[in-house]
Amino acid sequence: MKTVKIKKGWQFKIAGKPSHRIENRPAITHVAFVPDQIPFVKPRLMVQVGDKVKIGSILFEDKKRPGLKFLSPGCGKISDVTFGPRRVIHEIVIALDNDERFKTFEILTEPVLEQIERKLLIDRLMNGGMWPFVRQLPFRQIADPDSLPNAVWVSLGSADPFQPSAHIYLKGQTDFFEFGIKALRRLADTVNICRYNETPVKSDSTANYVTHRLFGKYPASDPGVVLYHTKKNAAENRDWYIDGQDVIQLGKFLKTGAYPIDRMVSFSDGSFENSCHLKTRMGIRLKDLAPGIINDHRKRWVVGGVLSGYTSIRDDFLDLHQTSVMLMDESHESELFGFVRPGFKKLSNSRSVISAFSSAPLPINSDMHGEQRPCINCGYCAKICPVDIMPQYTFKSIYADEIEEALACGLLDCVECGLCSFVCPSKIELTDFLVDAKHRYHKEINQGV
Ligand code: SF4
Ligand code: SF4
Repeated sequence: MKTVKIKKGWQFKIAGKPSHRIENRPAITHVAFVPDQIPFVKPRLMVQVGDKVKIGSILFEDKKRPGLKFLSPGCGKISDVTFGPRRVIHEIVIALDNDERFKTFEILTEPVLEQIERKLLIDRLMNGGMWPFVRQLPFRQIADPDSLPNAVWVSLGSADPFQPSAHIYLKGQTDFFEFGIKALRRLADTVNICRYNETPVKSDSTANYVTHRLFGKYPASDPGVVLYHTKKNAAENRDWYIDGQDVIQLGKFLKTGAYPIDRMVSFSDGSFENSCHLKTRMGIRLKDLAPGIINDHRKRWVVGGVLSGYTSIRDDFLDLHQTSVMLMDESHESELFGFVRPGFKKLSNSRSVISAFSSAPLPINSDMHGEQRPCINCGYCAKICPVDIMPQYTFKSIYADEIEEALACGLLDCVECGLCSFVCPSKIELTDFLVDAKHRYHKEINQGV
């Protein structure tokens, strides 16, 4: 087993991390699929409002890659299809039947899995809606099924304590996880199973198959970070990756022949009482995750991670890849003479505030503490970047439309962790600039594909 220690990054000290307590949250009346959160996919809708669907019925496929299918997370009637800017499909909403039924797929036994042709296995995963869980670096799009990666990276646990704990989602699911790993081994010669050093438990069931132990601050568990620090040649840049919870789903789909919809989601509203793990299902409406919170306009819904996620609203639905939801206090009040206060309770990486010298968790809110200002070349962003990018120069190259220069600065190594934006005293949204430039570059090199 290899040990990988990542030195750069940020020691998470945000208060309210979800406890290991598990609560059930069934979907109440509706679930939905959210296509616009899946990058580089152009949906061709296969259903319309009023159609009846089962769990696992096709909702849409990718126009650019027919055969890449996206399936229904619920059984019932299509009650709405909503569109965002430029007529991009935002949500496909399903009103649930009381008695939900599954579409069935062929079951795969272990002896068949060992013999099955790689292409046939990929077809089965594409047809069964499981392929979107396998993603590819450096653009983080759904993996290209026609390519052969150097390795598949599996992440167990996260350096972000607001993501679900692997201890929790693996409990009672080891058989499915192992079957999922066996399937991945049919897709690539190397499957690296990375275990982030969460609080160790005495009987860690993952000890038998883990190949890499990861140590370090956030985002040390990100496959892009591990790859950056271990790769030996450029061919590895396009490796595939998958989250540990999705490996369980993959194994479950192949073993049972049913599209698996269960999900473990970590939830935090900053309080000890409500922050825990929620046993729920794919595509649940956000407000169904926190039924006690009624229309609270002083809260912001953040989906996908405190530093790397996106803002949502309570009536939106959980998208396919996200398993972390946070309710953050909205705050736009300016602090009188804030610049001369010692900052005992200010969450900041800057050594100009006292709290930077303590590891005590502090509450976070949406306050930016000021507006965007010009870069002052402090170098904080470069100092914290886990993949040694100098975001200040990369950002300036992008701003000047010098994409080649931005690439030379390491743009494609960016793991979209959000740390550079978080530490920037000039409030420059560096991560957004870099991610947007990556997406534009991806479109440019894939024109006509
Ligand atoms: S450039 Fe910013 S977002 Fe990208 S990896 Fe570095 S710190 Fe993270
Ligand atoms: S942290 Fe912000 S102000 Fe400082 S060098 Fe980076 S971009 Fe410039």
